[in-house]
Amino acid sequence: MATGLRIMPLGGLGEVGKNMMTIEYGRNVLVVDAGMMFPESDMLGIDYIIPDWTYLRDKKDLVRAIVITHGHQDHIGALPHFLEEFDVPVYATRLTRGLIEVKLSRTHMLERTTLHTYAPGDVLNIGPFTIEPYHVCHSIPDTVGLGITTPAGLIVHSGDFKFDHTPVDGWPTDIARLAEFSSRGVLALLSDSTNADRPGTTPSEAVLNDALDQILREAPGRLIIATFASLISRIQQVVDVAARHKRKIAIAGRSMIENTKMARDLGYLVIPKGMLLSQDKIKNLPARQVVIVATGSQGEPMGVLNRLATGRHHLLRIREGDTVVLSSHTIPGNEEVVHGVINRLFQKGADVYYDPVAQVHVSGHASQEEQKTLINIVHPRFFVPIHGELRHLKQHGKLARQLGIPEENIAVIENGYPLIFDNGRMEIGKREPGGYVFVDGALVGETGPTVLRERDALGQSGFVTAIVRYQRQTGRPVGQPRIITRGFIFTPEAEELLSRAIDVIRSAASVEPGTAPDQVEEQVERALSQFLYRETKRKPVVTVAVIGG
Ligand SMILES: [Zn+2]
Ligand SMILES: [Zn+2]
Repeated sequence: MATGLRIMPLGGLGEVGKNMMTIEYGRNVLVVDAGMMFPESDMLGIDYIIPDWTYLRDKKDLVRAIVITHGHQDHIGALPHFLEEFDVPVYATRLTRGLIEVKLSRTHMLERTTLHTYAPGDVLNIGPFTIEPYHVCHSIPDTVGLGITTPAGLIVHSGDFKFDHTPVDGWPTDIARLAEFSSRGVLALLSDSTNADRPGTTPSEAVLNDALDQILREAPGRLIIATFASLISRIQQVVDVAARHKRKIAIAGRSMIENTKMARDLGYLVIPKGMLLSQDKIKNLPARQVVIVATGSQGEPMGVLNRLATGRHHLLRIREGDTVVLSSHTIPGNEEVVHGVINRLFQKGADVYYDPVAQVHVSGHASQEEQKTLINIVHPRFFVPIHGELRHLKQHGKLARQLGIPEENIAVIENGYPLIFDNGRMEIGKREPGGYVFVDGALVGETGPTVLRERDALGQSGFVTAIVRYQRQTGRPVGQPRIITRGFIFTPEAEELLSRAIDVIRSAASVEPGTAPDQVEEQVERALSQFLYRETKRKPVVTVAVIGG
């Protein structure tokens, strides 16, 4: 095993989501973040995706700790699964810890997990690593980047960040600390690439105040605003604007109710006394005094917004005069679903505002000018773009090149490629195998690409099942084979087609005496699939059961 410094991305490089990184030195592994990712629309039945940490399985005893940069799902979503396998302490800031606790208590894992709170300015020693979290602005409070001193040098991990000079909580990114790291000499900067294809500077969260203010002033009735359950800063902004307009507020959606309560208890969310009402109570107020903050801005089937759009919410109904705001960025791949939800809300008589129709969302990630600023302040020897699709990582690499970092000191890599630092040089190692780990109900990692292809085929062309009784001694079918179809064909011609299919089955099941039933099964399946394709140009899922021996 290599004894020097090794950085290994296990998620978030080459994709948006499921961020996870390991930093190794000698027989010590430090893990940064364990996030989840939403499935794409062709991943039928998949709830979410988590990183593939096969690589870490034979280093189980070497993992010292997992440190978390902030409380978004793409950084903490896989934590319950990770902690089931790795019994290691978790370090997080107060709010992030609160969000993790909400998550772990749902899977009854809170008691068996060791959680530590850290804060910007702390210095932690874990194995050979010295970890110094520093404050960064993002779309959730209490986000940190990390200075990680290793025996090979200082690494700066940006987390997700932007340079917002007027953030909701009044606490800008700690530029002084970054400059101080720089003065010590930084070996490598790992930096957020999410917006690497956006020129300029990301607008401050403050610009939302004006947009929300105007929408509220003009809203004739209730205002329903949907966002992520973990966007605590956004919820605070809605509260502030609602207070100015003398409206009361209710929260809809379990995860958001839990997060709001926790953030309020910890002091990260300030709601004036008497302003927050239950959904039940707020129903009795005049519409012009009501703001409802809801989950489901990505059109998630169980999110409040989707249930409102389809009239399936147990308490609330959309009605004429409602104003709905989607205050979040649509995750790539979710557009169709989100547009469907927007259309249905309009149909039900609501007025709907969404990005880019109105500036109701700003990104929490740095654009090009901010990314350049970070590189210039930190002035690293090596540069590694993280958090983004390959196009974002490539762009970010180009920016670093423009700022004078030599080509050979920039590593644009995807998940699974280790970076090895040795004698002042950086090398990209051999790719470790890995892939998607799908979470499908209670199944973790058991649903693979084959199952997804089958689900796709089922959705496209349905299935055809044949049951054949067979006598091994004679190598002949016995009696009439049965065919069952679902979602495949339903026309007057079907009967004729299926009776010809039975002939095909019978002849495919007429074989050399003594042939084993499973061989016959394969043969019948192939013959039947080919026949159905020839006749219908469709490829249903074909299964055959050959019974007897
Ligand atoms: Zn984030
Ligand atoms: Zn993120």
